[in-house]
Amino acid sequence: MKDAASASTPVRRRVIPIAAAQSGGGLFAAHQKVYPRTVRGVFARWRWAMVFLTQLVFYGLPWLEWGQRQAVLFDLGARRFYILGLVLYPQDLIYLTGLLVISALSLFLFTAVAGRLWCGYACPQTVYTEIFLWVEHKIEGNRIARMRLDEGDFSLEKLVKKWFKHIVWLGIALWTGFTFVGYFTPIRELGLEFLQTRMSSWEVFWVFFYGFATYGNAGFMREQVCMYMCPYARFQSAMFDRDTLIVSYDSERGEPRGVRSKSSNARAQGLGDCIDCSLCVQVCPTGIDIRKGLQYECIGCGLCVDACNTVMDRMATPRGLIRYATQNGMAGHWTPRQVLRRVQRPRVLIYTGLLAALTMGVLASLVVRTPLKVDVVRDRASLARIVDGGQLENVYRLQIMNATEQVQRYRIEARGLEGLSVSPPDPVEVGSAQSRWVAVRLQLPYGSATAGSHVVHFDVRSADGSAQVSEKATFLVPR
Ligand code: SF4
Ligand code: SF4
Repeated sequence: MKDAASASTPVRRRVIPIAAAQSGGGLFAAHQKVYPRTVRGVFARWRWAMVFLTQLVFYGLPWLEWGQRQAVLFDLGARRFYILGLVLYPQDLIYLTGLLVISALSLFLFTAVAGRLWCGYACPQTVYTEIFLWVEHKIEGNRIARMRLDEGDFSLEKLVKKWFKHIVWLGIALWTGFTFVGYFTPIRELGLEFLQTRMSSWEVFWVFFYGFATYGNAGFMREQVCMYMCPYARFQSAMFDRDTLIVSYDSERGEPRGVRSKSSNARAQGLGDCIDCSLCVQVCPTGIDIRKGLQYECIGCGLCVDACNTVMDRMATPRGLIRYATQNGMAGHWTPRQVLRRVQRPRVLIYTGLLAALTMGVLASLVVRTPLKVDVVRDRASLARIVDGGQLENVYRLQIMNATEQVQRYRIEARGLEGLSVSPPDPVEVGSAQSRWVAVRLQLPYGSATAGSHVVHFDVRSADGSAQVSEKATFLVPR
């Protein structure tokens, strides 16, 4: 990729020489708006399928109920995460770490095999840009109509179309912001608060912050986010090799390019298959010309493949002048079967092995996870004291976290010193998915242990025997 990338020339972004800047221009060329043309084809359909799928999950998930609560809720205030049947506490952060590592490894794996699949099909920037472009297309018309509208003088039609587009964009953006906040505050309550205009200032802030980020990124920044802001575009070349599937132009077949009539004999004219219609450039959401070789601006969306295949069909020429191919496959004229065989290479096998091992490890750990957490804190106000009956007493505070969906009763016992007893001995009741602080006193007959600190253990068991946790503590015996 490196070779191809370095051989390529960016199409529109060009540094203007200092002399030009001094002669009145800026240091950099002004951004030129990209007007992607709509295209039909296999990859365009895949992109829309991914838009529907990702948005169905994103907008739908917070409305899903699980028992008496929201199925997916990250309740930061209560420091509790609910994911379907799982109740996670901050102590379960290891699972979040595992999830992040699995996501990173998946990205490495997919990128090594098929390039920027994530960027082209599932990245929120891609998905929302696609949605916003669709709205723009519906309101302002096709590519030519949009360009004419932007270039044209002020008119009532222009004003109405622009206003209408921005209102629809803002509606989508704010709904997205609302949904985002709905992952952190129960979304039905949030909806009621909104209707009764009693949302908290933080909720209002995040709805607007996330909403305007969506509006700005998908409505205005678009491809610039991928090119100038996203770090992944910069380091993904490190994950590419000559056997990675990338969108490639078959220059051997396409060059020399040139306009010709459908009935003419291109070979007799010394022409390749590219008719230089520029359709592949017009449909590109980042506005590049893939015929100049692989460029870091290419998000691998495959729309130029669809566009060129349509042209090839019209010219009654075989499809695939632009196609997903590997550098080795292109250079060696490999068959698709030969290209696919190279998927099984060491780098891919290592990523797959690591990913499978880690995923299974996290799943197994979740399955055998104890649905009970206990934190022990010493009561610093009374380290050790003699109480009625000649007992030496240490006081602790236990936080008991019930990670099940049922009310649980927990029995607390202590061990580690002869004659150690727990007061009060009664079981503690904790509501479903709730945590509760309880004061617990450990008592020991005075004189039965030497002076100093002794390690003891709290054993907390659920009454039905389904969960047990042991936590270490120290018992102080004064001189
Ligand atoms: S769409 Fe195909 S034929 Fe048209 S310019 Fe691009 S590569 Fe050439
Ligand atoms: S060059 Fe083709 S694959 Fe790359 S971003 Fe443009 S349209 Fe998508």
